[in-house]
Amino acid sequence: MSPTDATDETAVAPVYAPSTEAVGGRHAKPASRSAKVNRRGLSGLAGGELERWLAAEGQPAYRARQIRDAIWRQNVETAAEMLTLPAPLRARLDEAFRIDTIAEDEVKIADSGMTEKTLHLLADGALIESVLMHYPARGFVGQARPTHRERHTLCISSQAGCAVGCPFCATGELGFGRDLETAEIVDQVRHAARRLAGTGSHLTNIVFMGMGEPLLNLDRVLEAVEILSDPRHFGLGARHVVVSTSGVVPGIRRLTALGPQFTLAISLHAARDPLRDVLVPLNRRWPVAEVVAAAREHARVTGRRVSYEYVMISGVNDTEIDADALAWLLRDDLAHVNLIPMNPVAHTPWQASTPERVAEFAARVRRGGVGVTIRANRGQDAGAACGQLAADRAGEPPAPAVAHRRESIERQSEVALRGSRSSESLSSELEAAVRSGAVR
Ligand code: SAH
Ligand code: SF4
Repeated sequence: MSPTDATDETAVAPVYAPSTEAVGGRHAKPASRSAKVNRRGLSGLAGGELERWLAAEGQPAYRARQIRDAIWRQNVETAAEMLTLPAPLRARLDEAFRIDTIAEDEVKIADSGMTEKTLHLLADGALIESVLMHYPARGFVGQARPTHRERHTLCISSQAGCAVGCPFCATGELGFGRDLETAEIVDQVRHAARRLAGTGSHLTNIVFMGMGEPLLNLDRVLEAVEILSDPRHFGLGARHVVVSTSGVVPGIRRLTALGPQFTLAISLHAARDPLRDVLVPLNRRWPVAEVVAAAREHARVTGRRVSYEYVMISGVNDTEIDADALAWLLRDDLAHVNLIPMNPVAHTPWQASTPERVAEFAARVRRGGVGVTIRANRGQDAGAACGQLAADRAGEPPAPAVAHRRESIERQSEVALRGSRSSESLSSELEAAVRSGAVR
């Protein structure tokens, strides 16, 4: 993702010992899974599964509440900490489940402590990232109460790596590792809640804008949202959850059929197909008009405004033609655009648009009748773009691969800027991900 807001200093607080599994390749591919690694994460049990497991174990039903309290109120990492349970049940839980699916963490702090970026090591060696962002209360001078309450937003990952391969995204360059299991998604939240414990603050918002394409792991993402919004677990209101997608149309339609579960964000980045084919390669399967039509229908059925993310890349998608195309595309919609200056990432030939260009672009889109917000960057000194910490850990790819990547991005964007659609098909990785994840 692109964490946003002003940035200054970096303090590094590593609590992570690099494992050989984690640095094996460009992407930390899962190591062979032992029986212990294969145990499900306890926090990912949804829809009465815990009750069924307890019944099968001959345990009384009230144990479910005690276990949930230990997971969600005490935020335990081990079965040994579940002191309300008898020792034999603790041992059985330990045998059957992983109590915490995150093995180790490395935390980087930026923006004078306002941004905390964490690289999580999972049991099989896969690496994912989450970002905790603090926003103090704000208000106008002279007002007794702040108009904006304090917020603590956590950005989480839904997959290790990503198959979509957007060329400005560090996760995209890593490629696809694997889908996260439900517990691995919600344990990122438990990790952040642990960091906030004792500060008197709590998480107020969760955004699926970390690594991965949530709508290509939709079953688990929906399960995670169900768990996070259940008052017996985390109890976060659906309005405080945002799921961002690069445009998996069948997934958007499935969400529409389910009704308002959370706020939907669409990573648009270009309103014209030739350019979006390059910036978001999934566009070659579901082009702009189909994505926006699905989002429009979602807004109509759920009554919830859709937000559109637009990463601003200098000389690529920040021209007046692009601003006009964007305003025209969304002119009658229940929509809002977030402009995000591109966070610097390695191995792209591109730069972020200047603040002046972003402001001009915003003004032009606004004149076209569409609501726009500009997001300031957050935590650039902590590897702000999601996937960057994992990419750094994976090591520099060979120089010829980097040169080939740059050359390919430049060639494709040249064609796009001339106005022609991409002649390239989906990568085999993305084709496979779409086939297995999109429609179920
Ligand atoms: N795969 C999903 C969700 C994760 S990416 C999606 O693409 O929507 C979350 C957001 O971070 C997306 O809007 C993405 O475009 C943005 N992002 C990725 N790399 C970025 C970069 N280098 N600078 C700014 N934003 C970036
Ligand atoms: Fe990155 Fe999202 Fe594109 Fe995947 S879909 S490569 S996570 S921006």
